[in-house]
Amino acid sequence: MTAAPRRAALPQIDPTRCTGCGWCVAVCAPHVLSLHADGGRKASALDDAAGCTGCALCALRCPFGAIRMRRRPAQATEAGPASDAGRISN
Ligand code: SF4
Ligand code: SF4
Repeated sequence: MTAAPRRAALPQIDPTRCTGCGWCVAVCAPHVLSLHADGGRKASALDDAAGCTGCALCALRCPFGAIRMRRRPAQATEAGPASDAGRISN
């Protein structure tokens, strides 16, 4: 039996820094990022954490430093599928 490959890290997007420019969406090969309406403006969000390869291109491309790659917790398993992993709440 083979387990699905685990990504070492996932992007976390800081909505207070995100301008909604869309560069991260454009560089994401598996198309797991998209822009969402957020209080009259747009901000990027990770839609599908399971589909993210952890390549970090989104974080490298963001001109505003709004994306950080965060290592997945060791205990993040099928019981905790990081449904809010793409956003930082404050
Ligand atoms: S590249 Fe950065 S600022 Fe632009 S939409 Fe993505 S997270 Fe937001
Ligand atoms: S780390 Fe790579 S695959 Fe994951 S959201 Fe960013 S660009 Fe897409």
